[in-house]
Amino acid sequence: MIWGIIGAMPSEIALLQTQMSNVKKETISGLTYQSGVIRGKEVVLCCSEIGKVNAAMCAQTLALRYNVGCMINTGVAGCTCDDLTVLDLVLSRDLVFHDYDWKLQEKYHPHTSSFPGDPGLIALAQKALAGMSEHIGYKLGRIATGDVFVEDEGLRRSIIERTHPDCVEMEGAAIALVAYSNQIPCLVIRCMSDNANGDAGMSFDTFEKIAADHSAKLLLSMLELAE
Ligand code: SAH
Repeated sequence: MIWGIIGAMPSEIALLQTQMSNVKKETISGLTYQSGVIRGKEVVLCCSEIGKVNAAMCAQTLALRYNVGCMINTGVAGCTCDDLTVLDLVLSRDLVFHDYDWKLQEKYHPHTSSFPGDPGLIALAQKALAGMSEHIGYKLGRIATGDVFVEDEGLRRSIIERTHPDCVEMEGAAIALVAYSNQIPCLVIRCMSDNANGDAGMSFDTFEKIAADHSAKLLLSMLELAE
């Protein structure tokens, strides 16, 4: 099985790149796909760039051009729940869009407005977390995706009221929708870089790199453990 791995920003794939051997690169529609091996597993790694459309384009290429057997999105997010803090992780129990009308999504393709994380990948992530030497707080929760960096308190409140997420980011549900449409198991792993509030910009700048590495470290342990 080939693992398709997406990070939206260079920081989110940096650690994984250092662990990759036999690297071959191919650029398709402006995005560069790196095929190779990490922890003995065949992977295709791509930096999709930010936002839903870039992420969807990347996921669809992983599905059709590389025939990946699963898709993992690793990266950072803004926390919108009370029981996690910056540098804790969310594993996608499910993903929703906070800027798309759920009634329209249910009426038209893909006829659903929530995309579940794959149970097998969730179990592997939980096993990997249990075995990690460094303690990382985490939650199996809901991730809400939209094309906006959430730092406005009013928008934060409105997203929480409408979609009840544990964190917000800008790519996960788009990747999950593509995976769902292609019947590919998918998991989104996000480490909190900020609290999606008025301080989000400063917090993001401070914690982006360390949070991105935390999420990537979990993925490395998953690859190590996988059959
Ligand atoms: N200030 C940064 C913002 C980049 S966008 C810049 O100008 O470069 C933020 C990226 O991190 C997106 O890929 C998104 O998925 C994630 N993210 C982290 N915190 C977020 C938040 N509060 N709201 C939305 N996305 C967030």
